[in-house]
Amino acid sequence: MNEHPLWTHVDEAKDRFKALSDRVWATPETCYAEKASVAAHVEELQHQGFRVTENLAGIDTAVMGEAGEGGPVIAFLGEFDALAGLSQEADVAEPSPVTKGANGHGCGHNLLGSAAMLAATAVKNWLEESGTPGRVRYYGCPAEEGGAAKAFMVRDGAFDDVDIAITWHPGSIPAVVKGSSLANARIDFTFEGRAAHAAGAPHLGRSALDAVELMSVGINYMREHMPDEARIHYAIIDGGGISPNVVQAHAKVRYVVRAATAPEMLVLLERVRKVAAGAALMTETKVTDKVLAAVSNLIYNAPLGAAMQANLDRLGPPQFTDIDRAYAARFQETLTEEDILAAYRSMGIVEEERKPLADFIVPADSPEVEMGGSTDVADVSWVVPTIQFWGANHAIGTQLHSWQATAQGKSAPAIKGMVHAAAVMAATGADAMRDPDLRARAKEDLARRVGPKGYVSPLPEGAVPPIAEMA
Ligand SMILES: [Zn+2]
Repeated sequence: MNEHPLWTHVDEAKDRFKALSDRVWATPETCYAEKASVAAHVEELQHQGFRVTENLAGIDTAVMGEAGEGGPVIAFLGEFDALAGLSQEADVAEPSPVTKGANGHGCGHNLLGSAAMLAATAVKNWLEESGTPGRVRYYGCPAEEGGAAKAFMVRDGAFDDVDIAITWHPGSIPAVVKGSSLANARIDFTFEGRAAHAAGAPHLGRSALDAVELMSVGINYMREHMPDEARIHYAIIDGGGISPNVVQAHAKVRYVVRAATAPEMLVLLERVRKVAAGAALMTETKVTDKVLAAVSNLIYNAPLGAAMQANLDRLGPPQFTDIDRAYAARFQETLTEEDILAAYRSMGIVEEERKPLADFIVPADSPEVEMGGSTDVADVSWVVPTIQFWGANHAIGTQLHSWQATAQGKSAPAIKGMVHAAAVMAATGADAMRDPDLRARAKEDLARRVGPKGYVSPLPEGAVPPIAEMA
């Protein structure tokens, strides 16, 4: 056996972390409202003997646990927020919400936080046993889905003395994340018009709802003239009311604007603002806007990536059984061929035999593939050398943000993949802890990729976490 010294520590500590993951799965809470979830994380940190700092960066659902003395600081980043509308019974392979319309863990963040804390606990126990100097931290970060908590935490200096950051995301094929993610901003446009009887005196009304619709038309024309990677999407938060016979005096639309880098995203955001102003001009309404949250693009770290890949190569894929594969096959039946093919493509794999679960890993020489979406891990990656892992938790082809992902969140494959991710992360964290040369190379790599301009927060000056807007 080619064992890393951290793997026995992961194995010894793992049972409580399955329980923690299941507990968070059962109390799905969204964006900055993760009260029960953070309480469960605080309780576990205290049980494991970490020194706990609550209300990190002034956010009452952010927490940090630290252990060890002196030496470098190695941080594991966890999350525990859920998504609205993705309630689903565990293990049921057809849409079947626990509570219709309620929240659900459709992005696997119950597993995410739990594995990160398991990795931190394993490193903590190894530090104690081996007498190695160094501090290990677990950061419980809320509101990854739309709240950009880590961008606010970075701005507040929560990671200033961290040497290396390590995290992961649940998925279906195990890999080191080498590509980037998109920068984004989440912005609300509020239009104010004038109400009137829609039949009796329509000429006296000025419709805020019309402004929202005209803004959509303008944005749709703009799409032809945007950079390829850019994405714009929207949700009408307030259509003004349910009465067609009233000219709607008030309407609000939320946009997400994404581009390859934060500066490009900010340029696109200004163009979106111009379209909103044009819609207001056309409808004789007034528009105001508010940026709720914004994140940067992710920066890869080559030395840390190589260290993580070496540990993944050594560990191999999770050990799934025939029972696990039969379980996953039931979920694959709810997916299309296109879903399954996309999962392979998203990892740079073109030719691969179709399998229900990954019994392989993505090799070091696989091509770099962009993540497509956004993550607030990106802002940490600009200020601390950061590496991220894709776990193998779901039937191959399972989309994140789907009922299928919620349903599989407590399953045997999900938990095996969670422990597997913790093993990869803990080994990489311990390697960085005891190898000053690896830390130095990781810092040099980051400095080179960031360039002379340095990190500029994509958040507008004075922005505060959008706790009220997300409730
Ligand atoms: Zn996620």
